[in-house]
Amino acid sequence: MSSIEDKLFLVKFKPDDRTHLIVDQDHCKECKGRPCTMFCPAQVYHWDETEQKILVAYEGCIECGSCRIGCPDLLLEWRYPRGGFGVQYKFG
Ligand code: SF4
Ligand code: SF4
Repeated sequence: MSSIEDKLFLVKFKPDDRTHLIVDQDHCKECKGRPCTMFCPAQVYHWDETEQKILVAYEGCIECGSCRIGCPDLLLEWRYPRGGFGVQYKFG
């Protein structure tokens, strides 16, 4: 059976040059457990201990919407990428 990583490897992206995921770094510094680093299936969020900030690899977002509800107090601004950009799903 394929792992999530194997399946994600098959997904195509057309990355935008601007992020569609806006985090509030002041709140991220204080955020208990930083759940986004665990629930995002595409591992978009990483806590950088040296820089003391969340790194957001928005180019790999599969637009599942989980961080829209999973971020405590909804501190993360979430929207779809601009038209034509982002994950390219095949239907049919
Ligand atoms: S869950 Fe929200 S507030 Fe917490 S680290 Fe992630 S983006 Fe920041
Ligand atoms: S929408 Fe889904 S894949 Fe994209 S950053 Fe949020 S949790 Fe990760």
